[in-house]
Amino acid sequence: MRVIVVGAGVIGSAVALELRQRGAEVVLIESHAEGGHTSAASAGMVNPFSLTPEDSPALPFYWHSRQMYAEWTRALYEGTGIDPEWRDAGCLRVALTPADAEQLRVNLEWVRRYDSCAELLDAQSACRLEPALSPNIHAALHLPSEGWVHAERLMRALRRAVQLSGINLYIGYPALSVLGDEERAYGVRTADGVIEGDAVVIATGAWTTALLKPLGIHLRVEPVRGVILKLGDLPVPVRRILSSPVGYLVPRADGTALLGATREQAGYDLRATTEHYLSLLHALWRVASALHHATVLGHTVGLRPDTPDHNPYIGMIRGYEGLYLATGHAYHGILLAPATACAVADLILNGATELPIEPFNPNRFLR
Ligand SMILES: Cc1cc2nc3c(=O)[nH]c(=O)nc-3n(C[C@H](O)[C@H](O)[C@H](O)COP(=O)(O)OP(=O)(O)OC[C@H]3O[C@@H](n4cnc5c(N)ncnc54)[C@H](O)[C@@H]3O)c2cc1C
Repeated sequence: MRVIVVGAGVIGSAVALELRQRGAEVVLIESHAEGGHTSAASAGMVNPFSLTPEDSPALPFYWHSRQMYAEWTRALYEGTGIDPEWRDAGCLRVALTPADAEQLRVNLEWVRRYDSCAELLDAQSACRLEPALSPNIHAALHLPSEGWVHAERLMRALRRAVQLSGINLYIGYPALSVLGDEERAYGVRTADGVIEGDAVVIATGAWTTALLKPLGIHLRVEPVRGVILKLGDLPVPVRRILSSPVGYLVPRADGTALLGATREQAGYDLRATTEHYLSLLHALWRVASALHHATVLGHTVGLRPDTPDHNPYIGMIRGYEGLYLATGHAYHGILLAPATACAVADLILNGATELPIEPFNPNRFLR
């Protein structure tokens, strides 16, 4: 079985590795020098609950991927010598208004079905746990099972693992089109010629819609720009993710922290503007005012591949035997990479998966 994976972000790299580990011959095609710019620019949270506004059929898959994280990152570290810095120190989801606090009470009920240790804290208890928090918060949901990785290091580890695994890697080769007859996809065209395979996996993130259009497949994946500030010299250390409706902080092993993130549709524009800085610093003031004098070390910008329901497309496209999608992971691509890789490898190599991917059927919005 020869599989072509298009796109070497966190999703395409994870899928390619999983297929290779299960014995498939794999070709991985990436248009940019390194690839995975969005993945490396992310905050790296492995957070099934804190940014999820309500109970949803997607949660069993989110939770499954969260549970794969320790083993997945350990194997990457052992195989490559690059530590993705997996940390499972949890998250405090902070309420900034009485209405937010009420919402957290509702959330606690469904979160507890997965994580029985989740609890609602009053403002004082939350500030004792995390002294950086602003004293005027209203409550906090403690989510001990959430964690994070250092996204740039994760991407470096994945790249090294891909290089070591015997995957045929084509870097700097944009896939110009997917080749298929009326029933089946059988390859990809690049500027350098045609690459044929038994299956093609599209993992092109925010660049997916244009690649599928010539096949008559109209799937919406919109780039949603996100800017993050890197903070150093924190006056008070941060030990867990501090998240809120206006922004979040993610600590790093070296004592720095990420302050994220903006959300806006701006096409493929990768600039960070003064307005982004303003809104992020305003969020910092509301969530963790004790960090007001931290140093701004820089910023990252990425394009989230968003879909109409903010859930990914995972699976085969109706009417195109051999054409699989693993894209549109929106706000959760880092969280969902290990389970997506597993599900896609199951589908291609075994024809089915036991993972709960029904909510991600790529045909759900097809006309
Ligand atoms: C500011 C910000 C913060 C985030 N924080 C988190 C977080 O805390 N937790 C979380 O889970 N997620 C987070 N995300 C979301 C996460 O980063 C994305 O969901 C994830 O990176 C998507 O991965 P991907 O592999 O699909 O896309 P990408 O990383 O964009 O990779 C797609 C790859 O495909 C390549 N490509 C495109 N077209 C072609 C072509 N025609 N031929 C060949 N190659 C092609 C691109 O060059 C690219 O390398 C965040 C995103 C942003 C922007």
